[in-house]
Amino acid sequence: MPDKILRLNPGERLELKKQHPCGGKEFTVLRVGSDVRIRCDTCGRDMVLERLKLEKAVRRKLEETQQEKESES
Ligand SMILES: [Zn+2]
Repeated sequence: MPDKILRLNPGERLELKKQHPCGGKEFTVLRVGSDVRIRCDTCGRDMVLERLKLEKAVRRKLEETQQEKESES
């Protein structure tokens, strides 16, 4: 396996190089397969991208460990 491959797991948050039309750059991974479903954290819309395209578009993974989860707000 090439070690450049980006490992994605549902629930992970990503910052992409491309902005969503709403202006947001942070997305949450919903489902991973040959296509990946992600949801824009800013406007809540989800979309499906080819995995390869998404991998190229990822700037970095967002660390979630230091954040408290707030399900309500
Ligand atoms: Zn958006």
